[in-house]
Amino acid sequence: MDKKNAMSLEFDSKSENESFARIVVAAFAAQLNPTIEEIADIKTAVSEAVTNSIIHGYDGGEGKITLTCIIEENKITVTVVDKGKGIADIKQAMEPLFTSRPEMERSGMGFAFMEAFMDDLKVISTPEEGTIVTMSKTIEEVSGF
Ligand code: ATP
Ligand code: MG
Repeated sequence: MDKKNAMSLEFDSKSENESFARIVVAAFAAQLNPTIEEIADIKTAVSEAVTNSIIHGYDGGEGKITLTCIIEENKITVTVVDKGKGIADIKQAMEPLFTSRPEMERSGMGFAFMEAFMDDLKVISTPEEGTIVTMSKTIEEVSGF
């Protein structure tokens, strides 16, 4: 079997679109017949990445977020791109409990959740240019009878 499918969409950096993004990804991932737990994992990871673009990348201001999903065989790869302020020190940003916004009661666990709930996480970022978060997860095929 040679399965490949892709979709891409762009939306405004608004907190209303956080649930929109995670639902869209869950709907697209459904063709892989994931378990409820796998879908919950993907939704959480997408939420974290999109929230980061909204509150950190664009600081709550205007901007566009691009969401891309690619399915290859039984793996889904999700990419969240913003053209916001970027991350100066990616290694530090990805450490569990690191947050640049403690005053906003952020816990600094977003990247840790993405890492835990997905199989693979890559972050590319350039200050003043933006951030690309790519994460993938393989959905195990459940053998039927
Ligand atoms: P939490 O996700 O638990 O609410 P948090 O967002 O601060 O807290 P992470 O999601 O792990 O924690 O992100 C760590 C830090 O990385 C953020 O505090 C922020 O400084 C930086 N960061 C993450 N994503 C972006 C982004 N898209 N643009 C700019 N900075 C980002
Ligand atoms: Mg976060």
